Amino acid sequence: MRVSRSLTIKQMAMVSAVTMLFVFIFCVILLFHSVQQNRYNTASQLESIARSVRGPLSAAILKGDIPQAETILQGIQPAGIVSRADVVLPNQFQALRMSFIPERPVPMMIMRLFELPVQISLPVYSLERPANPQPLAYLVLQADSYRMHKFVMSWISTLVTTYLLLTLMLTVALTWCINRLIVHPLRRIARELNDLSPQDQVGHQLPLPRLHHDDEIGMLVRSYNINQQRLLRQHDELNSHATRFPVSELPNKAFLMAMLEQAVERQQTTALMVVACETLQDTAGVLKESQREMLLLTLVEKIKSVLAPRMSLTQVSGYDFVILAHGVKEPWHAITLGQQVLTVINERLPIQGIQLRPSASIGIAMYYGDLTAEQLYRRAFSAAFSARRKGKNQIQFFEPEQMEKAQQRLTQESDILTALDNNHFAIWLQPQMSLLTGRVESAEALLRVQQPDGSWELPDGLIDDIESCGLMVTVGHWVLEESCRLLSAWQERGIALPLSVNLSALQLMHPTMVSEVLELINRYRIKPDTLILEITESRRIDDPNEAVAILKPLRNAGIRIALDDFGMGYAGLRQLQHMKTLPVDVLKIDKTFVDGLPEDSSLVQAIIQMARSLNLTIIAEGIETDTQRDWLAEAGVEIGQGFLFARAVPSDQFEQRYLTDARHHEKA
Ligand code: C2E
Ligand code: CA
Ligand code: CA
Repeated sequence: MRVSRSLTIKQMAMVSAVTMLFVFIFCVILLFHSVQQNRYNTASQLESIARSVRGPLSAAILKGDIPQAETILQGIQPAGIVSRADVVLPNQFQALRMSFIPERPVPMMIMRLFELPVQISLPVYSLERPANPQPLAYLVLQADSYRMHKFVMSWISTLVTTYLLLTLMLTVALTWCINRLIVHPLRRIARELNDLSPQDQVGHQLPLPRLHHDDEIGMLVRSYNINQQRLLRQHDELNSHATRFPVSELPNKAFLMAMLEQAVERQQTTALMVVACETLQDTAGVLKESQREMLLLTLVEKIKSVLAPRMSLTQVSGYDFVILAHGVKEPWHAITLGQQVLTVINERLPIQGIQLRPSASIGIAMYYGDLTAEQLYRRAFSAAFSARRKGKNQIQFFEPEQMEKAQQRLTQESDILTALDNNHFAIWLQPQMSLLTGRVESAEALLRVQQPDGSWELPDGLIDDIESCGLMVTVGHWVLEESCRLLSAWQERGIALPLSVNLSALQLMHPTMVSEVLELINRYRIKPDTLILEITESRRIDDPNEAVAILKPLRNAGIRIALDDFGMGYAGLRQLQHMKTLPVDVLKIDKTFVDGLPEDSSLVQAIIQMARSLNLTIIAEGIETDTQRDWLAEAGVEIGQGFLFARAVPSDQFEQRYLTDARHHEKA
């Protein structure tokens, strides 16, 4: 974990900004105040100067002695602050003007802001007739504005430097304090939590940082420690005997909730199933305590017997069990499990001389990573209530559409299994002809299902449905066994015609496939080289090494392998490079390439060349026209399969049509 912007930086910026703002306001006030003070001082100085010359000046004016008056005014100059002196007569007529200091320019803004220049005006009275209130003239003195300007400037610069320094000092000091007192302890805590190993997490305690016992950081650490202790207690409780339900000794609700929390945390798709056993409820007070205990224990054992090891059974009340069905990812799987649970619960039960037939209601809630543990729990219970309302031994999903989906899926599954049981599945055979001689060289076994109208076909998507129901291995095994039965019957009659059987990728990856095929060959005593397994390129067998590992033992036993639909798979041409390592004997060129013949022949040609170089037998699929056949024969393809020769037919018809002549009979 990294900090992208430290608390120290943020808080330093904030302290600086706020301090600067206040310092600015403070400086402005201070400046105006001192300038005002200075103006006042200047004015009083001017006034006392004026007063000192007022007597002689009035005498000179009364006598009309202008040179005398000028001399008197000249005496003011050494004071240095007066820039100009005027004598103005009461009728505003200017009688005399003396400038002492040349005017120096002062910015207009300063003049306006501080009301410059500073001026005073003093009336001059006649000394001989003091009773006369009329002044003789006015003495007007004006202070030097430039001096004032200089004073303002020096004040501003002093203030700014002083207070900027102050701001800086304050910021650094505050930052240092916060860094020491907050940032460092927080960082230490974060680092310690970060470095915590998973096994130390429960019950982990943080040390109280020094000097922080009584502040907020101390509070944080203490709260954390208290929470941790609480968690530790819960943890211990879960692991202790206290989490078991009496009598059944099953884990109780606290345990279940903890497990649910875990599942929710990991976002694991799962199903929660509430099994509400009405019989336990109904027999309360009717059966003796020992009988009820017996009933409970028997039921628990029965439910346990149908659960996979990863699932857990808990008891949350006297009559309610909850199954956390880990590994159940789809509604149909959940409902199948529910049915198994119901079946074992419903079995007749003799309890100390009393015959019981227990019943239960089952509610299921699926978890797809979108609920809290509590919500999931409540959903499953509410489903169990609605199951109960529907009658005895009902299973109900919380979400109706999940019920529907599960039922659809189960119907499909049961339809397939029923069809298999009732011989509605059959193997039809399509011949594979030598393009050279026109004789049958082998046959492909194709699955057919009897339709409601009695016809036989392979409905679109059926193979996919079988795969998605998880029945591919069952059906595939049936096809293999049927094919082996056919081969064995032929071989008993001395016919050594090979038979190709399609193997889906799911079958190929199934762990017991190899042993099952070998077992069939042994059981039916068929020549291994008459069985050809057709595998299709697919994502699942994209890794040639894996395919080799799976197919090697079969090939070692003599079974042949054909690569079906060659060129169609997304890995088609890439696979060419791996062909040397793939244990394959036959290559089937897909119908889409044959369709393009003879115009689009480059790819077919490439495939043929490659197959030759690897010594593989080539079969061209889906030949429908003479031109296609001729082109392929010309190109050296040995075997062809397609409607031009024949469609798939039932095995008896196939035998009549192709196996009556003696050519396929072995030369003993
Ligand atoms: P596939 O293995 O490529 O089988 C060849 C399909 O092409 C068959 O369709 C066959 O009837 C059809 N076909 C043969 N010649 C021609 C022709 O000249 N023109 C045309 N238009 N079609 C031709 P089918 O029997 O419907 O099988 C479809 C697919 O179902 C098969 O393709 C195979 O992938 C799968 N399948 C069939 N039976 C089984 C089986 O027993 N097990 C497994 N795993 N898959 C099977
Ligand atoms: Ca095939
Ligand atoms: Ca094919």
